[in-house]
Amino acid sequence: MEIQNCRICGDVFTAKFVFREMMFGMRDEFGYGECSNCGCIQILEVPHDIEKYYPDYYVSFTQEVPELKRLPFLKRIANAQRIKRKYKNLDDHTLELLKPIALVPGAKILDIGCGRGGLICNLFNLGFEHVTGVDKFISQPIDYGHNVMVLKKELSELQSDAYDLLIMHHVLEHIDDQVNELKECFRLLKKGGVLLVAIPVIGTAWDIYKENWVQLDAPRHFVLHTIKSINILAEKTGFKIGHTVFDSNAFQFWGSELYKKDIPLTLPDTHEWYPVERGFTAEQLSKFDEEARVLNENKKGDAARFYLYKK
Ligand SMILES: [Zn+2]
Repeated sequence: MEIQNCRICGDVFTAKFVFREMMFGMRDEFGYGECSNCGCIQILEVPHDIEKYYPDYYVSFTQEVPELKRLPFLKRIANAQRIKRKYKNLDDHTLELLKPIALVPGAKILDIGCGRGGLICNLFNLGFEHVTGVDKFISQPIDYGHNVMVLKKELSELQSDAYDLLIMHHVLEHIDDQVNELKECFRLLKKGGVLLVAIPVIGTAWDIYKENWVQLDAPRHFVLHTIKSINILAEKTGFKIGHTVFDSNAFQFWGSELYKKDIPLTLPDTHEWYPVERGFTAEQLSKFDEEARVLNENKKGDAARFYLYKK
């Protein structure tokens, strides 16, 4: 059934839109609404056949998972020291995510909606001992050894007050009942724990591209947040937002430019990502990088990480 009010703040929709499935070029159409109060954009009705839009070749099912390496003792000690110094001088995308948090190597970490568990395996290899993933959509649980596991469970089946860090990396936008999901996260965290939420956000790319903005990703993205709406959601569920880091990149431009030309994000035969160098010159791509950097500085990029604290 079509919802009448905003999932986040309960207000009415001022504008309605129709967006198309373009990652795989299915071009099916879906109705979305823009909230008059919090500004977030959301799908009006969750498709009854939503699994159809997560085929076997969807990215989270095919992600590469690094082999687990139990590092030699001295290396582990050195990594632990670096982690204690808050990752200073470490140039690593995974640690970049954790930079604003004071986390010890013994921290208990849960990656929610982790797919095959690439991120937790990376964290283990960096020196974190207690890492677990959970994903109710994987076909079966995965045991990587060394106590590194991906559970096929609902959050409601997991223990309260158990984790120092929860990670939802580009997961929240796929969830319908966000208030309930974040309440569950709050329950799972220890006092003082952190929930890291990385999501697309409404910024300049939406203003420029509208229905061709690549992060709309209909119908998989149910909710596209604004800064205001994520703050309302955090407040409603007991969290305090500590830091926000804008981390958008050139994808907001080249992906949206493809959609403007009616080109899907993946190739029809192999389902691999569109080879970006085919559609854009090196000069264009470096211009996109630079524009993304400036947008992030001005808090207008189309992706951000929010660090939510259970105080
Ligand atoms: Zn709203």
